[in-house]
Amino acid sequence: MKVVKAPAKINLTLDVIGKRDDGYHDVEMIMTTVDLADRIQLTLLEEDLIQIDINVGHVPSDKNNLAYQAAKILKEQFNIKTGVSIYIDKQIPVSAGLAGGSTDAAAVLRGLNELWSLGISIDELAEIGLSIGSDVPFCVHGGTAVARGRGEKLTFLPAPPPCWVVLAKPPQGVSTKDIYQRLDLQMMTHPDTKGMIEAIDNQNFKGICQRLENVMEPATFELAPEVSNIKERLIQFGAEGTVMSGSGPTVFSLTKSEAKAYRLYNGLKGFMDHVFVVRLLGNRHS
Ligand code: ATP
Repeated sequence: MKVVKAPAKINLTLDVIGKRDDGYHDVEMIMTTVDLADRIQLTLLEEDLIQIDINVGHVPSDKNNLAYQAAKILKEQFNIKTGVSIYIDKQIPVSAGLAGGSTDAAAVLRGLNELWSLGISIDELAEIGLSIGSDVPFCVHGGTAVARGRGEKLTFLPAPPPCWVVLAKPPQGVSTKDIYQRLDLQMMTHPDTKGMIEAIDNQNFKGICQRLENVMEPATFELAPEVSNIKERLIQFGAEGTVMSGSGPTVFSLTKSEAKAYRLYNGLKGFMDHVFVVRLLGNRHS
């Protein structure tokens, strides 16, 4: 038996460069990991079977679960004739822009690589993960990286300076597909990705906060105005930097002080359920 931590990611920047012939979009985004994590318990089985159990009802526990798909790919590629039981203790909100499913899949790839003694390199695991989803390669490595292409071409950066992250997930769901359809690639203003990389390299917390930007915000705010209201509130409460993660609807703020993080938390907790105060992690999985 093995327990693997599967941390969520946030986007410090998210830019969409263009649409590709294969239907995907080319992106340029800076992602980092935060200390809000699912816990994945892997138990080896004698039978040739992949079994999923999860502590929330609205996530599939069959072949549609990304953790199942991760186990299946390894079983098939490495001709494994035994099985595994996967228990997902879900702490990351679902469909939130925090890569919850992708990080579970990545944790299963890392965990089973060890339990089944497959000896696959981390780069190879990331490549295998790409067939499950565009964010899986980043989640296999963790840390802080610029992701280009579909999200799989990773350039690693140092961890940002230590800080607190206040995550607020409104109840309203948004469809990533709808948001992509609403993006106006000609008219959008692009994040200062280069400036963000420099700010991270220089450990310039203020510079990082000033450059938080996500081109998907206007489309998500149009579909779910509540997301924009939450962002406004966090700014009013004095957050140093606030932006939406992924295609939303989670909005997060960065703060240097724990006291301020809890001020933001208390300001939101009265009228929404999913608010978290966590530390930014930013270092690759060891
Ligand atoms: P991203 O940030 O990569 O766009 P997300 O955080 O917005 O992802 P997820 O939480 O990964 O979204 O969920 C997206 C969909 O994936 C949901 O419809 C969910 O039912 C499905 N799904 C499959 N497996 C999982 C899993 N292990 N955890 C969460 N969702 C899963």
